[in-house]
Amino acid sequence: MMASLIEYGIRSPSVLHAMAGVPREDFVLEADRAHAYADRALPIDAPGQTISQPLMVALVVEALELHEGDRALDVGTGSGYQAAVMSACGAHVVSIERLESLARSAAERLHRLNYDVEVVEGDGTLGVPERAPFDAIAVGAAAPRLPIELARQLVEGGRLVVPITDGPNGEQLTRLRLVNGRWETESLGPCRFVPLIGADGYRDAATS
Ligand code: SAH
Repeated sequence: MMASLIEYGIRSPSVLHAMAGVPREDFVLEADRAHAYADRALPIDAPGQTISQPLMVALVVEALELHEGDRALDVGTGSGYQAAVMSACGAHVVSIERLESLARSAAERLHRLNYDVEVVEGDGTLGVPERAPFDAIAVGAAAPRLPIELARQLVEGGRLVVPITDGPNGEQLTRLRLVNGRWETESLGPCRFVPLIGADGYRDAATS
């Protein structure tokens, strides 16, 4: 896994160190443990949800430009893997998940593995105002448009990395940075994520 991350251009020493240290086999389903370090997304314990492929996690976390002690928000906890990688980069991480069962199992797992991550259950499209502002925010699901409440929860110099839907076939990984009070956005390349569901996201197909 580490060789493929380096081959695909991950350069940040702290991200490579974090990716090498977080035990991905503890975040995947028992039946998938043998493939835990293959560079692909794997199912997690909720219908249609996945733990992102390692390269995508590394790209997102590298794009966050985390520094020791940064306050970071992870939207879409899922298994908790990306939150663990962010924490291993030295950030204080708050992670928000809309599905109660996933939030509970990820919180237990992160605690058992000694990651200092606070897991919150709720709609992450609105951020976590009571913990804001953040130096860095990562969104682990595809947004229909820029989630404005998240952008508002950044400090000056803060980074928001979010996949934004770009036509029917996928998303553009987008980085927004708050520079001198203005939002600057840049496109980091195409990507594929499950939908972000919530007040400033997609509607839940199960309830609409
Ligand atoms: N980063 C995760 C994988 C994320 S999969 C990992 O490392 O395992 C996307 C997750 O986002 C799913 O768990 C899904 O339930 C969650 N999600 C979707 N919309 C959300 C929202 N509005 N707020 C919080 N979580 C959301």
